[in-house]
Amino acid sequence: MNDNRMKFHITRKINGIRKRSSNVSTVSIVKVAGTGKKQLKIGLEHFFETHGGLRKIIPAHTNKILIKPNLMMGEPWTTGITVNPYMVEFLVTFLKKEGLEVIVGEGAGWGCESADAFKKTGVADICDRLGIPLIDFKRGRGVHIPVPEGSLLKDVLVDEIVPECDFIFSLAKMKTHCETTVSLSMKNMKGLITEDRERLRFHLLDVNRCLIDLNRVFKPDFSIVEGIIALEGIGPLKPGKPKPLGIVAGGKDPVSVDAVCARIMGLNPADIRHLEYASLAGLGTIDKNEIEVTGESVEAVKPDLYECPPQKIEKLSPYENIKIINGNPCSNCIASLASYLHGYIDKKIIERATSNIEILIGGKARSSGTGREIAIGNCLKKYHGKLPFVSGCPPPSDAYLELIDRGLKGNFDIATVNSNCKVVFINKDNEV
Ligand code: SF4
Repeated sequence: MNDNRMKFHITRKINGIRKRSSNVSTVSIVKVAGTGKKQLKIGLEHFFETHGGLRKIIPAHTNKILIKPNLMMGEPWTTGITVNPYMVEFLVTFLKKEGLEVIVGEGAGWGCESADAFKKTGVADICDRLGIPLIDFKRGRGVHIPVPEGSLLKDVLVDEIVPECDFIFSLAKMKTHCETTVSLSMKNMKGLITEDRERLRFHLLDVNRCLIDLNRVFKPDFSIVEGIIALEGIGPLKPGKPKPLGIVAGGKDPVSVDAVCARIMGLNPADIRHLEYASLAGLGTIDKNEIEVTGESVEAVKPDLYECPPQKIEKLSPYENIKIINGNPCSNCIASLASYLHGYIDKKIIERATSNIEILIGGKARSSGTGREIAIGNCLKKYHGKLPFVSGCPPPSDAYLELIDRGLKGNFDIATVNSNCKVVFINKDNEV
């Protein structure tokens, strides 16, 4: 890293620490009257008014602004999985009106090409039309940026353009997440990372703590969370379900913004590991007494029920005869298995089951030799030829079908489901 970048990221970090000493952090919540483009524009204008206008948000010396939307795998925003693309359009338009230089950048979810996500969500067209650079963080050149006081990471690998930006606007979605409980502003920064391999490192080490290390260096300068159609249940993908709330929330301190959003979702921020760590690390506050909520109150927009993911991976299975052995999997395997168990599985195979099964998931899962085990995901490749094994990283949801069906009938012949979802049986000498 050159001297300027070093100076820059240290300044960012110091700014982050300073925020703790400020007395009150402001988070505003505004209602958006519908899902149309016009209503969104009115809602966003009102949102910025509650913060005294855009110019008050952005320091005078700002040169280059990065907008980081959450676009995941390019699902439509109405699924509750990705942010409303018109948020990007309006924000770019507002910023350009102020004469500011803006870029939009994102690295799509695991295994997805960002270009596909940009196209499917319509953000590619929007940026094209507005003449704004749209950067694919998974395709750019990565730079290792040191994390001086990192609890787990010594550095983070991000696209080289990220440290050149002196203001980060996070456009996150209000979502549940089976690994981090919520996916909001701080989690949204994970899309700055350039390589899937680096993302995997987060999951293998401890994603909640790695997120804090990433935010120590690249904390959003302003965060907006879209909850016009939020996501509840087992997120961040399906089987999570859309939850229309008709709101947008945001502010300068992403920790407070996320804490307020968590309360709207019916959660205590102190129970959410990465938010608790963030407040302990001095990145912001989750303390109600230190957060001023303007616009709507939390109580006014909080739904009666907001379905959250189970706190323990072991509880992902809704069936007594399917036990999950937790080996610290990443959210991709969890989402894949959850969407099979909660969506695709044929209930008849559960009803006619004659055996219990145990599903090993995540690289740290160990076989206890019960003879009723199935291992899933390439992290458990070591069990190929030793247990019924479903390959893939993550395996597609329909890949589980045959081995789980056979297992529930008491058949645990050694077999592997390959990348084409074909079951390949393996003989005693481990040869196909
Ligand atoms: S096999 Fe599953 S848990 Fe392991 S890295 Fe791949 S998706 Fe994550």
